[in-house]
Amino acid sequence: MTSQAPSPDELSGSSEVAIVGGGPAGFAAGIVLARAGIDVAVIDGATFPRDKTCGDALSNDAVRLLAELGAREEADRAPHAVVDRAAAVFPDGTRIERSYGEPGWIVSRRDLDDALRRTFEAAGGRFVEGRRVAELVRDGETVTGFAGPSIAWSARVVVAADGYGSVALDPPGPGPARGRWLGVSATEYWRGVSFPFGAGTCDHFFEDDLPLGYGWIFPSVAGVSNVGVFLRADAYERQGRRLSDLLDAFLARHADRFRGAERVGRRRAWSLPLAPRPVPVTAPGLLVAGDAAGFVDPFTGEGIWQALRSGIAAGETARDAVRAGGLGPSLRERYEAECARAIGAPSRRKAQVQRALDLVLRGRLYRLAPVRAALRMGYQRQSVDHTKSDPGRRDRASARSGIHA
Ligand SMILES: Cc1cc2nc3c(=O)[nH]c(=O)nc-3n(C[C@H](O)[C@H](O)[C@H](O)COP(=O)(O)OP(=O)(O)OC[C@H]3O[C@@H](n4cnc5c(N)ncnc54)[C@H](O)[C@@H]3O)c2cc1C
Repeated sequence: MTSQAPSPDELSGSSEVAIVGGGPAGFAAGIVLARAGIDVAVIDGATFPRDKTCGDALSNDAVRLLAELGAREEADRAPHAVVDRAAAVFPDGTRIERSYGEPGWIVSRRDLDDALRRTFEAAGGRFVEGRRVAELVRDGETVTGFAGPSIAWSARVVVAADGYGSVALDPPGPGPARGRWLGVSATEYWRGVSFPFGAGTCDHFFEDDLPLGYGWIFPSVAGVSNVGVFLRADAYERQGRRLSDLLDAFLARHADRFRGAERVGRRRAWSLPLAPRPVPVTAPGLLVAGDAAGFVDPFTGEGIWQALRSGIAAGETARDAVRAGGLGPSLRERYEAECARAIGAPSRRKAQVQRALDLVLRGRLYRLAPVRAALRMGYQRQSVDHTKSDPGRRDRASARSGIHA
């Protein structure tokens, strides 16, 4: 590491496991560890409660993971919308709907992540906020801690869960995601949006100027809806238009939904590192989870389920490493295999679906009745959607993985 001048308020500490980042991935890992009686600390650069630029949609299986973590009751107390349907809408207005067996939620990230924080602290975990981590500290090849302008921390296992632009990707790592491995997205909140097809429906609009992406209008929480656009960064670059212009154009096309509505707060944009980017998600002493590992669904832009899922797996792996006296190669391989099975493989299938849909959109094939019928059948089949609950599939998958929260 490069040496940093110590600051007067520098905090030095250590724990058996230290987690960089208090988002869904970091707190999921932390809750698993704290509940196992492991000395664990989560360090975050922000002061909580904090916002996170997001669409705020939790799939029904993400809600189930919250329950497994013991955080559902905390989150349930926050204002949220219950989502029981989703719709895919095509440029000619063709609308295909599906309903969920178990509902998902819309909940602000300020509330969701703070509920996870409270659950983590109640389980005995230590939370250190307002301390940015600038780099990992290594002893030879092995990660032994991290440091920042006002923090120096050592641990037997480090979990990097610090989202897009993670310190885990800095040299000697591969660097942040770009091109086809990156999504770009802009979002804002609106009060008073109309929902002609039902208040609990997440609408996804596949549109000509949002190739390899879509625009969304999500159900309102206390009268306020999350609205935005998302597309793959390589397609965005080819478009040659600003993200903000694409969002303006999207809002203008759906002006009927926004009649009498008013914008709340400011427009925000952020990046989404897409799966399955072939980057290592472990190193000696290190596990990487959530956006830091590039686990966002390339088709839907969904990443909270992936953050919770990989966070749980990272927590279980770190727990076993502490008990075994170190993060050896077999535990690292187990974590890598689990992430590849639960997130990598289904993300690859989702990228194939995205490519097929892109051909349908470019050829305007959705106007043909047989294609519409195929789209309807594909959309309503849950089998391709790994983040939506299908109790039968879930039981089969967890029986195969042996990994449980
Ligand atoms: C516009 C947009 C819309 C989205 N919509 C959805 C959606 O509707 N549903 C969905 O499932 N997903 C959505 N996503 C993706 C989702 O937001 C992420 O996948 C999810 O937040 C990943 O969680 P995480 O815990 O890995 O990282 P994050 O939530 O990014 O948390 C990382 C944490 O690390 C902290 N941190 C970062 N750097 C440092 C540092 N150097 N030192 C210390 N702390 C640090 C941050 O303060 C933060 O608390 C969207 C993303 C965007 C950008």
